[in-house]
Amino acid sequence: MQPEQRIEELRALIAQANEDYYTNDAPTIPDADYDALVRELSDLEDEHPDLVTEDSPTQQVGGPISILFAPVKHSVPMMSLDNAFSGDDLTAWSDRVSRGLDLPPDAPPLEYVVELKIDGVACSLRYENGELVQAATRGNGKVGEDITANVKGIDVIPHTLGKSAPAVIEVRGEVYLPVSVFDALNEQMEAEGKARYVNPRNTAAGSLRQKDAAITAARGLAFWAYQLGQVDGGPQLSSHSGALDWMDELGFPVNPERRVVEGIDQVSALADEWLERRHDLDYDIDGAVVKVNSLARQRSLGSTSKAPRWAIAVKFPPEERTTKLLDIQVSIGRTGKATPFAVLEPVFVGGSTVQLATLHNDDQVRLKDVRPGDTVTVRKAGDVIPEVLGPVLADRHPDSKPWIFPSHCPTCSEPLVRPEGEAHTFCQNPRCPAQRQARIEYFASRGAMDIDGFGYKLVARFIEEGLINDIGDIYFIDWDRVLQMDRIGETTVANLQASIEATKTRPLASLLVGLGVRHLGPSAAEALAKNFGHLDRIVEATPEEMAAIDGVGPKIAEVVAEYFRSDVAKALNDKFRAAGLNLEGPAVVDTPQTLEGKAVVVTGGLEGFSRTGAADAIKARGGKSPGSVSKKTLAVVVGNEPGASKISKAEELGIPMIDERAFVALLETGELPT
Ligand code: NAD
Repeated sequence: MQPEQRIEELRALIAQANEDYYTNDAPTIPDADYDALVRELSDLEDEHPDLVTEDSPTQQVGGPISILFAPVKHSVPMMSLDNAFSGDDLTAWSDRVSRGLDLPPDAPPLEYVVELKIDGVACSLRYENGELVQAATRGNGKVGEDITANVKGIDVIPHTLGKSAPAVIEVRGEVYLPVSVFDALNEQMEAEGKARYVNPRNTAAGSLRQKDAAITAARGLAFWAYQLGQVDGGPQLSSHSGALDWMDELGFPVNPERRVVEGIDQVSALADEWLERRHDLDYDIDGAVVKVNSLARQRSLGSTSKAPRWAIAVKFPPEERTTKLLDIQVSIGRTGKATPFAVLEPVFVGGSTVQLATLHNDDQVRLKDVRPGDTVTVRKAGDVIPEVLGPVLADRHPDSKPWIFPSHCPTCSEPLVRPEGEAHTFCQNPRCPAQRQARIEYFASRGAMDIDGFGYKLVARFIEEGLINDIGDIYFIDWDRVLQMDRIGETTVANLQASIEATKTRPLASLLVGLGVRHLGPSAAEALAKNFGHLDRIVEATPEEMAAIDGVGPKIAEVVAEYFRSDVAKALNDKFRAAGLNLEGPAVVDTPQTLEGKAVVVTGGLEGFSRTGAADAIKARGGKSPGSVSKKTLAVVVGNEPGASKISKAEELGIPMIDERAFVALLETGELPT
């Protein structure tokens, strides 16, 4: 194909993807595929500079703006960012920066700010005399869409600024949907038989650009500020880090994970660290953004038509990729739940090779209309089970047929039943071998009794040999028979015996989790074990007594009580007792309630407590540990690198600020230092 032709083709594909992504909030290809198209176009244009046109997507920001919103002309353009996909790209950028600044080879390393690249929607907030007067999307960089009413419904965005606000300030940042909110939303969608949302970014974009601002307000969106636009008045700023601190002081949420570093090696090390830790955060990031810290140097470097020369995005490997859907099968879980899953052509995504991915349930397959033979988008984010997001319809074969959920269990051939009002379908045969296998594997898994070395294959063989039928049988295995089995050596047997023996002293909560009762997860199991103190007392408890415990809802209480009334449970409990398992709950230590009803805010890192550890210590003593300072705060504990906004708020309200030593004394006595 001639380069002209391919360039035209790529521009058309990218224009369509831009419209789907930016205007309709409904991308049809993953970001990685989009980036590959843009890179191919950019390489071709580099080879043939005469074919570059002003309207090429390589020269323009964003996509078409929607007619549903009033246009807003940006006083300072909202730009895109150039990308670095490798260490070489990053070094090449820092060399360009050094050349652009005419730095001599022996110049000291340059100062950069490294921030997280939040995967959300760019938004500009304009305040005049301290009042939020306008909010706009980035649009095509010069003109955005007016979303003021929508943005006013986002809790963390201030409507007014304090007395120190300048005459005009524009704050740019990213509107995003916290992962926890996204997961809860999807659980709700699934329960209502509606299609799951694809990912937090697209959901944030769709939620923000709603005609009805009340819908936006209900979605739980959040915001991180990272850049100034037009500013009239305010302090003389000389650095980007200073600008971020100032926005923080004015009351904007500025991401605390920002760092000033020297030289590109430190940038690279920090980006690598964030790649490892990306899933420790409650929001998605797709990279790190690196900015030259000095504002004078930023000005001297300037921008291209599309992006500043003083910044670059270090992009992380994709968590969404396309691959071929070879087949859809159904697996039977420990509760009999029949879950459809995709058998895929292996694809490297989210850090590992994925061959199987969940399709959740019958409704979700139907709503997504994924069919064997389709090209599909697969998402794998962190430890979460890989998921098929949907088909790439443009690649669908004309003869493909919708997939139909099987009517019978693939293992025991009994009918599959979908109870009234349930989103899931079940195999209801208690003797189904697939369920038995799943129950035993679950009991042995790390989150439950943690029997090292007792995985799928060994469990399957033991069931096949008739050595175990249920989880109680694990403690009465005929080891002489095991030793006679093929391909199982003495060492394997000795190790397995030791692993099983070790489970006898595990906490009661682990045993409760291991029972595999539907809805009974680790925190409810912990609460039951702690409050009732013994398995026998849990067995005797009524659903009402269980539901009265903090951390055990009425739904869990009902299911747990019903389980313990069953003959299956009675037989299992007898086996556990005979095997000598620990059935006692933890001894309850009465922590003195020194902080009853009091609020203590912690900011910055402490030596002897992790962030959650400090909050737990306060809560264990009857106190609260809110994320912000108010009139009701008893004290602010100040650690390393504290948040500037919390300190200034505490100063403003005259709240005592204490160090870690005084915090330890406060926990013990409830008294502040005099
Ligand atoms: P970009 O989204 O990769 O980078 C620029 C944006 O990063 C800024 O506009 C800002 O919104 C954001 N950002 C987040 N944190 C930031 C921080 N700390 N500092 C500064 N900016 C920060 O580039 P782009 O030009 O806006 O969009 C291109 C990207 O969008 C593609 O690489 C792709 O990921 C996605 N896209 C996908 C499709 C698709 O069809 N899947 C289509 C169009 C665009």
